[in-house]
Amino acid sequence: MRLIALTSKTALLVMKYANAGLYFLSDHEVVLIDTGHVRESEALLTWLTEQALTVRYIVNTHGHIDHVGGNYLLQTHFGCEIAMPYIDHLYCEDSSRYYMSFVTSATEGLMVYGKHKFRVDTMLNKQETLEILGHTFRLMTAPGHTYNHQVVTTPDGVCFIGDVLLDDKRLETAKVGVVIQLKNHFESIEGIRNLKGQYFVLGHGEHVYMPDELSGLCDRNVDFFRRQYRGVLKLLAPETTFDALMRAIGVQYGLGDNLFKYYVAERSIKAYLAYLESIGAIRIHVVDGVLTYTALSGVSDPKRLRA
Ligand SMILES: [Zn+2]
Repeated sequence: MRLIALTSKTALLVMKYANAGLYFLSDHEVVLIDTGHVRESEALLTWLTEQALTVRYIVNTHGHIDHVGGNYLLQTHFGCEIAMPYIDHLYCEDSSRYYMSFVTSATEGLMVYGKHKFRVDTMLNKQETLEILGHTFRLMTAPGHTYNHQVVTTPDGVCFIGDVLLDDKRLETAKVGVVIQLKNHFESIEGIRNLKGQYFVLGHGEHVYMPDELSGLCDRNVDFFRRQYRGVLKLLAPETTFDALMRAIGVQYGLGDNLFKYYVAERSIKAYLAYLESIGAIRIHVVDGVLTYTALSGVSDPKRLRA
């Protein structure tokens, strides 16, 4: 756990699985932007206690377990309020609704969130600002990675981008980019390109991006997701079933047999397929009771694939 001061009031806390932001309301009171992975929740509480810090408020960029993992423990300990995106609150308050996030598995939500459900006090859905104890945070709704992902900017101009952008290291190593709606995700990246701030912090990775680095990073993220959906398109023989496609993707990217990773990849590949259908690159139809995907001719035209 490593604290990197960015301004006199805002710092980045780098944890093993994900980043959190700290905004100091006073010397001993903070607002947290995300709370890291559930596996690090106890270590985070211990660290905050050692630093004599009280968490007054938590605002989450989105509801994935590596960003809300400390919410339960911190809310129980400090009694703090929590603001998080609308829809994500549904499965964070009750893990039996985990199908709102990734899968219809009856047990997966419990496996992932366990007892770590928490009370959501404010749901974020298109608000442009959030008043926290007299301090004004700016919000941007950036759907795509999740339904209502929030980009949170502190009063002193540090933008916490969450998982809308991957850092350069992950752009090189990520196997399947996690999205729930790809068209919206592209639009969100364009929105971030115009974001005003003095520092830009991502959900993962230590590199803090400066304003003149932001547009290039957006370009590289767009290129990454174009490569991803084009890669899916290439794997489609006529009337390919989803299972056959997942098998081919598993072989190509070495996904292995981890069920959680399968579910995450499954959700993203379905988002790629929905996007490909929306731009007229594939046809989805039922053959003998089985859903199939077929690439349509002429789609190798790169201009069309840039739609
Ligand atoms: Zn995420």
